Amino acid sequence: MKVTKPTYFDTFRCIASACPDSCCQEWGVQVDEASTEFYRSLPGDLGDRLRQVLVEEDGETVMTIENRRCPMWRQDGLCRIQAELGHDALCKTCREFPRLTHDYGDFVELGLELSCPEAARLILADVDGGQVVIEADGGEPADYDTDAMAVLKATREYALSLLDDPAYTPNQALALLLVYGYQAQQILDGDEPPEFDPDLILEQIADVAKPAKAEDIFRFFETLEILTPQWAERLQNPGAPLPWTEEFRSLARYFVGRYWLQSVSDYDLVCRVKLMVISCLVIRNLGGELAQTAQRYSKEIENDADNVDAILDAAYENPVFTDDRLLYLLQR
Ligand code: SF4
Repeated sequence: MKVTKPTYFDTFRCIASACPDSCCQEWGVQVDEASTEFYRSLPGDLGDRLRQVLVEEDGETVMTIENRRCPMWRQDGLCRIQAELGHDALCKTCREFPRLTHDYGDFVELGLELSCPEAARLILADVDGGQVVIEADGGEPADYDTDAMAVLKATREYALSLLDDPAYTPNQALALLLVYGYQAQQILDGDEPPEFDPDLILEQIADVAKPAKAEDIFRFFETLEILTPQWAERLQNPGAPLPWTEEFRSLARYFVGRYWLQSVSDYDLVCRVKLMVISCLVIRNLGGELAQTAQRYSKEIENDADNVDAILDAAYENPVFTDDRLLYLLQR
């Protein structure tokens, strides 16, 4: 079985007490069954505390949040479970975060989550999008549509080549990505689209773009689930838009890597490409320091499945997300 991961994947190290926005803040960590059983069986002070803070919510066991943070988080920024029992005693969620696993049965793709500050730093510093492929034991027969997956893999390669092409600025590359999403969707649907001509498309974009304001997108984001008051404040009072630096290629590459192949589940690629473009636009127009804004965006949006679903739905339905408006904002 092939396992693919970004070249930076194995360099990740949790910066623990030096982390500016710990994963132990704000999230109610879901605790797996084996860990729950182990924690509840522990003797002494730590066991008593764990029995106090593990609660049942919607059929899952969750660590309650106290004062906006995990009750196992110590004053020194370290985890009490890890400090007293070692790394292996952490529950699955904490052991794995921020590592992402996309397991398709006969192949696996690994990545890091943008919602971790240290992972965000590595993702944005990744200038060449290098991948490592290893052969691993295990795996199962493919349980997806293999023809669709082949199309998605081939079109993703082309999408990534557009993002990396130095002939186009990062925002031009994102505009091309948006338009190419429709072409790739046609191929996925079994149609034969005309040849994709990036230069011609860039010429045509100026004619189709329709005036739009990033603030209208922020108003939509205010209707989503909001984790922290600071995020609501950012949406109300964004900073100056960021320049379209080369790091936006890395950011877009991260979104492509995370969402493109997921379309094999429902054959809907266009809404995911729009999610990628909308995400870059929101981060760019919120301003601030890019890595910090991208990390906060991911924590608020990507780590909440309801928020992601709401954007995927709105990508088709909400007038603020029409292609002409997104293309206009990509030209600013
Ligand atoms: S968010 Fe990342 S760097 Fe920060 S504590 Fe969690 S895993 Fe470590």
